[in-house]
Formats: sequence, C-alpha cells, structure tokens
Amino acid sequence: MTEVDLVIAGAGGGLAGATHAAQLGLDVLVVEADPHFLRGNNTSMSTAMVPGPGSRFQAAAGIEDSPARFLADVEAKTHGTADPVVARALAEVGAELVEWLADHVGMPIELPTDFDYPGHSVPRVHTVPGRHGSALLRYLSDAVAASRRVDVLAPCRLVDAPPGPDGTRVAVVEHPDGTREEIAARAVLLATNGFGADPELVRTHLPEIADAHYHGSEHSRGDALRIGTAHGAATGCLDAYQGHAALSAKARTLLTWTAVMHGGAVVDGSGRRFGDETTGYSEYAATLAAQPGGRGWMVYDGRIDALCRTFTDYLDVRSAGAVRTGATVAELAAATGLPAGPLAEEIDALAAVARGAAADRFGRTVEAPLTSPFHAVEIVPALFHTQGGLRVDAHARVVDAGGAPLPGLYASGGAAVGISGHGAAGYLAGNGLLPALGLAYLAAGHVARAAVPSVEEGAAR
Ligand SMILES: Cc1cc2nc3c(=O)[nH]c(=O)nc-3n(C[C@H](O)[C@H](O)[C@H](O)COP(=O)(O)OP(=O)(O)OC[C@H]3O[C@@H](n4cnc5c(N)ncnc54)[C@H](O)[C@@H]3O)c2cc1C
Repeated sequence: MTEVDLVIAGAGGGLAGATHAAQLGLDVLVVEADPHFLRGNNTSMSTAMVPGPGSRFQAAAGIEDSPARFLADVEAKTHGTADPVVARALAEVGAELVEWLADHVGMPIELPTDFDYPGHSVPRVHTVPGRHGSALLRYLSDAVAASRRVDVLAPCRLVDAPPGPDGTRVAVVEHPDGTREEIAARAVLLATNGFGADPELVRTHLPEIADAHYHGSEHSRGDALRIGTAHGAATGCLDAYQGHAALSAKARTLLTWTAVMHGGAVVDGSGRRFGDETTGYSEYAATLAAQPGGRGWMVYDGRIDALCRTFTDYLDVRSAGAVRTGATVAELAAATGLPAGPLAEEIDALAAVARGAAADRFGRTVEAPLTSPFHAVEIVPALFHTQGGLRVDAHARVVDAGGAPLPGLYASGGAAVGISGHGAAGYLAGNGLLPALGLAYLAAGHVARAAVPSVEEGAAR
C-alpha cells in the first residue's frame, strides 16, 4: 500500500490545502476525477471573490473591517442559521488566507471597491485581475506544480475513505479502467464539492430550484456526502444552495449582478419588475424561476455596461452577442420583444427612485437613472452549487452527530456544511470560495500540527 501524509480528493479549493500542507512539510497526494479540472470545476468557473475580513488590502484602502463585522453580516443574511463554529473559524482565517494567497501562492490580489455586494457591509471580497476563477485556480495549480511534496493523480476518483489503524485513513481510489487502489494516509480531505450534479439529491433537498439550469461542475455528484455518511458523519444545511438569477440565456455565462447593484433592473416577459433585485442574486434565482416562463431580462444602460467590463464573464456575454441595445426604450423593446409601455414605465419609475422623487414599490434603492443607450440581456435562473454538507469543526475535521471528530477525516468547500444557513437567501458573495479555500487551508494546518510539529511554517516547498 502507498503511504502519504495527506490525500486530498478534489483539485478545486482543495489545492489551497495541498499548497499549505506542502508548505508545512507534509507529503500530499491530490486525486482528481476530472482531467480537465482547471476549466471544469466550480472554483475555475467562479468569479474568484474571496472574503478576507480585516485584511491588509482593506487597511490600505482605508476600509475598517474585522472578523466580528463579517460574522454580524453572516448572521444578518442567514437570520442566525449559519453554522456558528464554521462561520467563526472562517471569519477568523479569511484575512490570513487572502494574504497567504498573495504572499505564498503569488496571486496579485485586488480588492474591488467600485460596487457593493448584497449583504456585505463593507467591501471585503478580494479577487484577481479579470475576476475569474480560472485565473485563481491556475495560481494554485502552479504553486502545486512547483512543490516537490505534492503529486496529482488525475483522472482518478476517491470512492471510499474507511478508517485505518491508529486514527489514520485509507483512501480508496478508482482509476478510469475500473481498477481500485488503496492509499494509506494520516488523513483524507474530502474536497469534492457538493451534489449539484446529482438531480435526485437536488430534487430531494432543493426542490425549489430543481428545474432550473445547473451551471456547475458535472463532477459535483455528492461523493463526499456518500463517503462521509457511510462512516458516521453528521450532515447539515443540505437545503442550502447558491442560485444565480442572471445566467445569460444565450451565452450560458454569468451576467454579473454588478449590473443590478449599479442600477439595472430585472423584468419578466411582460416588461414588469417583480421584486427587489438588490436582496441578492442567489435567492432571486428562485424568484425568477417562479415567474411565468421562468426567465426574464436584465435591463441596464451604457454607464453600467462600462462598469461591468472588468468581468471576464461579462465580456464573454458581450462576445456571444447576447446584449440587445436601443437608443430609446422603444428601440430596446423592439430589440427584445418586450412590451414598450410597461418597460418605459418601469425605467421611469426607477429614475424617480434614483432622483429621490419616489420610493420604490419593492423597497430598493437605485444608484442612477438609466439613460440612453439602453441594453438588455435575456436571463435564466441557475443552480450554481449546493452549500450544505458534512458537519465539520473549526479545524475542518468531519464530526459525527455527537460532535466528535472522525479520526483522520476532513472536509472543505461544497463537501462541508457551509456558512449560508438554509435555502438560497443566506448566501453572501464569497460563501463558496471561503469555505473551499479556507477549510482546506485550516485542514492542512491541523494535519501538519499533529504530524510534523517541528516543521516551521514556510520552511518547505
Ligand atoms: C459561475 C459560478 C460563479 C461563482 N462565483 C463565486 C465567487 O465569486 N465567490 C465564491 O465564493 N463562490 C463562487 N461560486 C461558488 C464556488 O465556485 C464554489 O463554492 C467553490 O468553488 C467550491 O469549491 P470546491 O473545492 O468545493 O469544489 P470544486 O472547485 O468544484 O472542486 C471539486 C473537485 O473535486 C473533483 N471531484 C469530485 N468528486 C471527486 C471524487 N470522488 N474523487 C476525486 N475528485 C473528485 C471535481 O472534479 C472537482 O475538480 C461560483 C460558482 C459558479 C458556478
């Protein structure tokens, strides 16, 4: 039997764990089911927004933030239903994580301050140029490739992780030809994401979004859930998910919600708005799905178009020809097939809200009136990923129903219980990547402290 310190199943956020574990002196084997993971997993598809409350990047921008403030925002968005242990652990490690991504992984971390994400009381989501997960994952995979302590086995699927002797684990992996191999490890980290690609599990736990388009990794099949529960793991918040109300129907790429936050509106096929879009893009997915036809249009203008161009995804939406344009509202109506009268009324009503002349009937605020040229993109609601999973403690150790850790078993990202509470409304931007990178980072630290206490952080690569 092969032996390593740490087996990490999943090369998304799990690569942060691999890099950190190697830095701390552990020998790591990453097993990854998808040979094209750099372009196929959720981390690679994401907008690369990672919260780091209290980071030095915020301090440099004059933004006062802290783990306590972030926790208060999580508490408010989830109405106190987020896992308190995981939320605290991630709030406390967020700033260290983004600074480590900059200093150790070499990411050119940026702190966008040009717009607000729903629910964050200060700008705190950090990103990389282009604001795309494929770039973020590339930095992590380059760090892994540069490390002599990490091997990557792909394609290869983790199928089980039974206990080994003396608190260790055995990673049972399956190769593409169906042969199985057992690898003895001090610990196994389940970083295989959630169950968004398993329609049956989605229908069982997330019926409100089960008919929406699934826009996540096809390898998010619930493997961690099956493996963990088979060995006594407790689960939590399996009804939690991140939806998104603004997937371009034509480009099948994300139209950033930044458009809404700068004053854009979402209308249905009758040209009418149907709610306060600024509550959050995640919960608005089910709201949009419930409208007649289950789709709508994002309406915005030239000013917002310019602001959105910092997002690679938005540039892709433009290049796909998904943006309709009109010099007047009547022209936009003709270009989209939306009825001109209601559309004009909605745009005028929002302009009145922006000027402070009227209150919005749904309660939103508006940055500025929409002016010519007008744009619109047809949008469909989507399920991006599930947020619930295996219960873990503050070190990312998988725990049983009594809260006792299962020896040598860790979980991160979509495999673990997240910090979004229940349903879609608890999702704050960054609640996907922070548990993905943060729990993997914490798991690596915990395994290293137990295994090689003499190795100083940063000593080995
Ligand atoms: C379009 C989009 C935009 C998003 N934007 C953001 C954002 O800006 N900020 C944010 O916080 N979150 C965002 N999210 C959510 C975020 O991407 C995910 O929450 C996060 O990437 C999950 O990381 P992960 O490591 O758990 O999963 P993944 O990145 O999906 O990695 C899991 C890996 O495990 C592999 N795998 C699966 N099963 C097995 C197995 N049995 N054995 C071996 N390997 C296996 C998969 O192939 C995959 O490579 C977004 C999601 C989408 C879809």
